[in-house]
Amino acid sequence: MKTVLIGVGQAGGKLTAALQSFDQQMGFGAVLGAIGVNTAKTDLQSLPFETVLIGQDRVNGHGVGGDNELGAEVMEADKTEVMSALDGRITAKTEAIFVVAGLGGGSGSGGAPVLAKALRRVYDVPVYVLGILPGQDEGAMYQVNAGRSLKTVAREADAVLLVDNDAFRSSGESMSEGFDAINDAIARRVGLLLAAGEAVEGVGESVVDSSEVINTLRAGGIAALGYASAEASEVAEENINAVMSTARRSLLTGTSLPDASDADSALVVVAGKPDTIPRKGVERARRWVEEETGSLQVRGGDFPLESGRIASLILLGGVERSDRVESFMERARAAIEEAENEVREDPKEMWHNDELDDLL
Ligand code: GDP
Repeated sequence: MKTVLIGVGQAGGKLTAALQSFDQQMGFGAVLGAIGVNTAKTDLQSLPFETVLIGQDRVNGHGVGGDNELGAEVMEADKTEVMSALDGRITAKTEAIFVVAGLGGGSGSGGAPVLAKALRRVYDVPVYVLGILPGQDEGAMYQVNAGRSLKTVAREADAVLLVDNDAFRSSGESMSEGFDAINDAIARRVGLLLAAGEAVEGVGESVVDSSEVINTLRAGGIAALGYASAEASEVAEENINAVMSTARRSLLTGTSLPDASDADSALVVVAGKPDTIPRKGVERARRWVEEETGSLQVRGGDFPLESGRIASLILLGGVERSDRVESFMERARAAIEEAENEVREDPKEMWHNDELDDLL
């Protein structure tokens, strides 16, 4: 899927750089271009692509300090500058736009929903948000910001691919020490998904294409991505178990959003050397994902890749009712309560809950 990336805020910029770098290293060519947007000048300096500093009249290049309402306001005021930086980058070849942002901070959290809305008005291609959820041990401000931002991006973007920092954290590492490793892990997964839709024509009839990614995300809302890989045999028939076991790990323990296995739709992509991917294994994995997610809309296909390993990549669409998302929204609401000492409403009403105000 030919994609243009817009990294907003510090996390958004760094993750965008990791995504671009993975795509280049692998020679996929799925990332057509990238820009970085921020209110903090220093956070833009190390990024290896064109950047746009917004909100200079309000914060003078010093950032919004975790104030996502201010982040939303400055994006609203300066969005035409961001749109002009994109001029000429989004061409007839572009199949999707990804706005990449940490939802717990200020610039990305507030800016991403505003930008997604503006982009959808102008472009015909889907506008997705790749959003990072704060870890559980990050403070109340991060949880509240992320709750409000998530609620708003879920409405404004064509879909939100959600990544939980806790899902990628290795034990013993502090959150900030681990960011580079987390960004690399996310870049590998999302980078493979983008490249899967790019597979060379004529390799096989079951090769995944971009429209399958887009259709899996068509219903909108929140999406998650699972990944697991294993050593492969040179003989396709011997890889049926590897396909099944990587599919199980990918969905049950390897998703970007833990415990998100209830989904409205899914796409199962099996990557590996073309003649080592077992047809039977892919079909069996697809049926297993159907049972496990309770979805009747499960697509499946191959992604030919020169590698000694077999990998299962599972994209899940419509996971907003999953335990993980509900418990996160609950956490965000609890943090607001703590701050404002207000009365809570029914936790199931997360998309209509007035305590968690929309940003737009
Ligand atoms: P902004 O610059 O105001 O948009 O704020 P940040 O991008 O720093 O957002 C803060 C949130 O993003 C927090 O929840 C952090 O845990 C998370 N975060 C910050 N940097 C990174 C990063 O490089 N990678 C990841 N995965 N998360 C990050």
